[in-house]
Amino acid sequence: MEVSCSKCNGIAAVYLPYGNENLCKKHFVESFEKRVRRTVREFKMIEKGDRIGVAVSGGKDSMSMLHILKDICGSMRVPLVALSVDEGIKRYRETTLSVAKENCKKLGVEHRILTFKKEVGITVDEIAKREERRGTCSYCGVFRRWILNKSAREMGLNKLAVGHNLDDAAQTVLMNFLRNEPFRLARFGPAGGIVKSEFFVDRIKPLMRIPEREVAVYSIIKGMNIKFGRCPYAHEAFRNDVRIFLNELEEKFPGTKFRVFNSFMSVKGALREKFNSDETPMRCKQCGELSSHEVCMRCQMLEELVG
Ligand code: SF4
Ligand code: ZN
Repeated sequence: MEVSCSKCNGIAAVYLPYGNENLCKKHFVESFEKRVRRTVREFKMIEKGDRIGVAVSGGKDSMSMLHILKDICGSMRVPLVALSVDEGIKRYRETTLSVAKENCKKLGVEHRILTFKKEVGITVDEIAKREERRGTCSYCGVFRRWILNKSAREMGLNKLAVGHNLDDAAQTVLMNFLRNEPFRLARFGPAGGIVKSEFFVDRIKPLMRIPEREVAVYSIIKGMNIKFGRCPYAHEAFRNDVRIFLNELEEKFPGTKFRVFNSFMSVKGALREKFNSDETPMRCKQCGELSSHEVCMRCQMLEELVG
């Protein structure tokens, strides 16, 4: 039997278990966009005078975020540029980047692609062959953040939007507690980290309250032509275990991921106070970017790989 939408007589397309609501496509899209806009407003993610960079990988999260931010920035007359990083992952990144290109073109958004090869001199495929101890993803994450921060700043952007969804956030919170690394959480959150410096471009995360499953549904309804593949190096074992655990709990107790995230939000201020340091961040003596050590992580890692 067809179930009807909780808001109209249309046929329901999505069930939201935590709210016990069935929504048709139109009302789901409306509710999704309204929630993202509310998050953007609540955390003052976008303000007049901003210049926004949107990190787009071509996956469902970044593409959905770009579609909504394009509208928000358009109505506020805030300039927006999409930035992609090509890490050099054969048979994976080409596909997602073509989705990013296609969507940026459709939306009329300027799109810049930065490559590992040019910016750090080594691709992820090459790293995977050389590295022995940290795991490929550790290098990839550090290099990507370094490239995005430096490039966004050089392009005169003051904020960088990243497509982290509720599942990513709940996993990060739980992982940091399970590892006894609460100081890392002090830097985490939907907007504005601890580091305040003209060399650091603030991160904003407009999808942080949206469950991953809903982002996937939104991207399909909106016809973004997403390819749901996985990076061949994606096997961070611990995050995977936490993901499975949270998904099982969510199934039994709908709303679990929201509760994990909300618990974190209610102690975030205290964490920041406890772990905040007044020290001005240093500049790396090799590359000049911000660093908590004399030589930044990107330069230390590069040294390990290429000597
Ligand atoms: Fe990079 Fe790992 Fe993500 Fe692949 S899964 S893109 S290697 S961080
Ligand atoms: Zn450096």
